Amino acid sequence: MAYVIAAPCIDHQDQACIESCPVDCITFEPGVDRKAYIDPDGCIECGACVNECPQGAIYHESELQAPWQVFAAIDRAWYRDPAAARSAVAANTDVVANAEAA
Ligand code: SF4
Repeated sequence: MAYVIAAPCIDHQDQACIESCPVDCITFEPGVDRKAYIDPDGCIECGACVNECPQGAIYHESELQAPWQVFAAIDRAWYRDPAAARSAVAANTDVVANAEAA
């Protein structure tokens, strides 16, 4: 289990979470990615990033609301295959929109 960056990060990427992480396990490629990603193999589940996010995008994997649970897999995927993770973000546009409207 790890913390996950969900839909509210998309097209915001405030980056305060990156500064707050004591183990440097949050990253993204500027100009390419639409959100930041947490490395689940590096996250020590300290929770320091949660309150730093002005979008309220970060949750523990066990606390993700149903429409956003896909982002646990997306964050994990980015560290193995960034292109696949980016495609998954794009493919979940409706899920993202519906969750934000909820
Ligand atoms: Fe980094 Fe802690 Fe957030 Fe995990 S919970 S991403 S270790 S700041």
